[in-house]
Amino acid sequence: MSPTLVANTSKDCIELEERYGAHNYHPLDVVVSRAEGVWVWDAEGNRYMDFLAAYSAVNQGHCHPRILAALVDQAKKVALTSRAFRNDQLGRFYEQLSSLSGFDKVLPMNTGAEAVETAIKAARKWAYKVKGVAKDQAKILVFTNNFHGRTTTIVGFSSEEQYRDGFGPFTPGFVLLPYDDIAAVEAAMDDNVAAILVEPIQGEGGILIPQHGYLKRLREITEQHNALLIIDEIQSGLGRTGKLFAYQHEDVRPDIVIIGKALSGGFYPVSAILADDEVMGVFHPGDHGSTYGGNPIAAAVARAALDVIIDEKLVERSAELGAYFLDELRKIPSPHVHELRGRGLWIGIELKPEAGGARRFCEALMAKGMLCKETHDHVIRIAPPLTIDREQIDWALERLAAVLQMR
Ligand SMILES: *Cc1c(COP(=O)(O)O)cnc(C)c1O
Repeated sequence: MSPTLVANTSKDCIELEERYGAHNYHPLDVVVSRAEGVWVWDAEGNRYMDFLAAYSAVNQGHCHPRILAALVDQAKKVALTSRAFRNDQLGRFYEQLSSLSGFDKVLPMNTGAEAVETAIKAARKWAYKVKGVAKDQAKILVFTNNFHGRTTTIVGFSSEEQYRDGFGPFTPGFVLLPYDDIAAVEAAMDDNVAAILVEPIQGEGGILIPQHGYLKRLREITEQHNALLIIDEIQSGLGRTGKLFAYQHEDVRPDIVIIGKALSGGFYPVSAILADDEVMGVFHPGDHGSTYGGNPIAAAVARAALDVIIDEKLVERSAELGAYFLDELRKIPSPHVHELRGRGLWIGIELKPEAGGARRFCEALMAKGMLCKETHDHVIRIAPPLTIDREQIDWALERLAAVLQMR
């Protein structure tokens, strides 16, 4: 077999992946070769509706023409300068994101995990330089079932055994507490706590929604103890839950917001942290950086991706259509469903333990033209592009009804 073989059937593509790629994923065997809006097509031309939206990176729908145009236009001008020089896109991106979010400053990175690392560095530096914590004593409180990425520091404070197994020793300074448990946080607070790092809804954890008032209490506790509240909105932010940021459901204002995924509409890895001057001011030249962070393509793509969210009212659509979707799902009589949870177009269908796991339901949905990815064995996750319309939701509900009633 020559190395220049052009893979074109799904079977060929899968074989090549399995032979030459690291086996660090277990994907559904659908080989996507084209996509548009809520739809993707495999190499044989079969069409599927996408209910994962690349973990909310394509909230704007696949291959959105406006973001595509921004990418192509900018790629023809200048792609990368590095931050050793300035570029003419970055300032405008900062201005747009700052005025949209209401935070003074933006620090751009590429992947979500890098932005989480950036937030950790900001919180620690703030603790030492502003709060006055003694050298190397800063603590960050984190929660069971968290998902913040895959770097060694981040997996070090995961509660998922597999994420950690074989990757130690880990970065110290993190305290793992039960999620949605205010008493545990109160008991853990002391003068060395730099920050609390929390997902407003745990997506990878199974669309776990804390009791209303949880974030507000975390905000009060961090204020009482002069600690930062860092909210990871990488998956929940930019419209997914029916608000621009999920923390807005509780009317709190964090000190650091972490965003990524939909910030580029799926075209390019773009992430960032948002904070006011008191926190962002801890960074001085040389303290932190990234060769690709804030590059001209990233800045141009992100500006278009944000424009699409606002101009197409994707936040409002998510709130309205998500409520409709959840209501209709509740009407489906199913022997398998344990609980339905949702905020906006982000819905978890938790199955009973005896249902045999969510994977077989996802495979049955795939056979009917719907792509869903299970999370935590028993939860079917529903997270379509926010551009989905009511007719497409009805199409999906028909298929979900059939699969949720199967033996
Ligand atoms: C996806 C995700 C990350 C990590 O983002 P990557 O781009 O995969 O590094 C971090 N936090 C949350 C909540 C996420 O959903």
